[in-house]
Amino acid sequence: MKNLLSFVLHLCDTVGAFTLDAVRFCVRGSKAFAGLVKIGFFKFLTLISKFYNNVVFASLKYVANKVSPFFNALQEMLEKSVRHARNNGFVSGVAKFSKEIKKCLNKNKKTVVRVVNYVAPAVAVVVILVAVNMLSNVTFAFEVKYSGETIGYISDEDVFNQASELVNKKVEGDVSEIATSPVYNITLVNADQLSDADKLSNAIIERSSDVLTKGYGLYVNNRFVTAATDKATLDNTLSSIKAEAEKKYSTKDVEFGATVDVKSGLYFNDQIRDAKSTKAVLTAETLPVITTVTETVDKDIAYKTVQTRDNTKYEGYSRVSVYGKKGLERSVVRRVFVNGVETETEVLSSEVIKKPVDEQVIIGTRVVSWISLNDNAKLSWPVAKVGYTYISSYYGAGRNHTGIDIAAPMGTQIYAAAAGTVISVEYTGSYGQHFVIDHGNGMKTLYAHCSRMDVTVGQKVEMGEGVAKVGSTGKSTGPHLHIEVIINGTKVNPAPYLGVK
Ligand SMILES: [Zn+2]
Repeated sequence: MKNLLSFVLHLCDTVGAFTLDAVRFCVRGSKAFAGLVKIGFFKFLTLISKFYNNVVFASLKYVANKVSPFFNALQEMLEKSVRHARNNGFVSGVAKFSKEIKKCLNKNKKTVVRVVNYVAPAVAVVVILVAVNMLSNVTFAFEVKYSGETIGYISDEDVFNQASELVNKKVEGDVSEIATSPVYNITLVNADQLSDADKLSNAIIERSSDVLTKGYGLYVNNRFVTAATDKATLDNTLSSIKAEAEKKYSTKDVEFGATVDVKSGLYFNDQIRDAKSTKAVLTAETLPVITTVTETVDKDIAYKTVQTRDNTKYEGYSRVSVYGKKGLERSVVRRVFVNGVETETEVLSSEVIKKPVDEQVIIGTRVVSWISLNDNAKLSWPVAKVGYTYISSYYGAGRNHTGIDIAAPMGTQIYAAAAGTVISVEYTGSYGQHFVIDHGNGMKTLYAHCSRMDVTVGQKVEMGEGVAKVGSTGKSTGPHLHIEVIINGTKVNPAPYLGVK
C-alpha cells in the first residue's frame, strides 16, 4: 500500500513535470512563430525551402554513394564490350555486352536491390521537387509584343513605361516612332524570364535597328543639332568653320559663341549627316562664330577754321590767308565680330602722328547798303556773296574808268541790279560778253566780261534775278564784273547807286 501510494505520488510528480515542460515548449514555440511572422512569411518560406533543399541534397548524396559501385561496374562493363566489339565485330560485341550485363547483375545482386530500394524513392522525390520548384517559380506575366515580335515578359506595365523612358535617354530625337504602344498578353513564365526596364529598352532598340544608328551627336548649348557616323566628320566641320573665319579676318582669335559638345549615342538614321550637309546645318544662326581682330587704324583729324573779321573789306569778302591741313591719329583697335557683324569696338591705344593746322580766313564786315533812286528804281548788289568779292577798281581810278570792277571767283552768280528789260546782249573786244538792262526813267545798267549770259534781248528781269556768271572775257586781267550805271545816256559813278564810296 505504502508502495502503491509512493508510486502514485511519483506518477503525479512525473506527469506534473511533463505538463510543465509541455506548456513551456508551447510558449517557446508560439514565441518563435510570432518571430517568424514578424520577419515575414516569405522569409520563413525561404528558410523552409533552404532546409528542404539541404535535406534533399544530403539524401541524393547518400544515394549516390550507395549506388556508385554499380555504376562503376556498369562503366567498366561497357568499356569492355566496346573494346570487344572493335576487335570482334558488332554482333559479337552485343553478345558480349548481354553476357557482361548478366554477369554484372549476378555479381551486384545486392547493389541492384539497393539501387531499386533507394533510387526509386529518390527519383520520386526529385520529380516532386522539380515540379514544386517549377510551380513555385512560375508567375503570371505580361508578354510584350512589339512590332509583331515578342520582346520580353514583364511583371507590370510600369516596366514598359520605364523602358520607354530609357529608350528616350538612350536615343536622341523624337522616339515616338519607335516606342509605339506594345501589345500585351497575359501568360505564365518562369520568374527568370522576366525582363527589367533596361533589358526591355535594349530589346526595343534592337528591334528598331532599321531606323537607328550608333554615331556621334553634336550639341550646341546642350541642344541636339546633328549627328554623324564618325566623330571626325563633326570635329573636322567645326575646325573648318573656325579656319574659314581665321582666314577671312586674318586672326587666330576665333571661337564659338555657344558651348559645343560631341557625344556618342544612338541616333535616328535621318539625323545622320555627311560632312557637306553637316556644314549646311551649322549656320551662323545655329552656331555663332566670334572673331576678334586687333588692327591699326589711321584717322584724319579735321582742322579748325579761324575767321578774322576785317572791316576794311565789304560784307561777302572772304579770303583764306592760311590753308588748313588735316592731322593724323593712329589707333590700335580691338574689334569683335559675331557672324561678321561688329558688336564691340575698343580703342586700346591711340596717338597723334600729325597735328592739324588751323585754316585762317579773313572775313569782310563792311556793310553794303541799298540805295533808293526813286520810287521804283534802286540798285541791289549785283554779285553773289560767295567766296571773295571785293571792289578791285573804282569809277575813274585815274584812267577814265567808266564803271566799278567787282572781283569775284570765276562763275560767281551775277544778279540784275534792278527790275527792267534786257535791251542788248553782245560781245566786243573790250567788254567781252556784256549786256544792258533798261530800268526805265532814263536809267540803264551794263554788265561786262561775263563768262556766261543767261538773258536774251527783250527779256524782262526782276531785281536780284540771276542773269549771268562772272568771267574774264574781253579786256580783262582776272574774273570780275565791270558794272556801269548810265543815266540819260551818261556813264556815271555807280558807287552811290550801289551804296559804296
Ligand atoms: Zn571795269
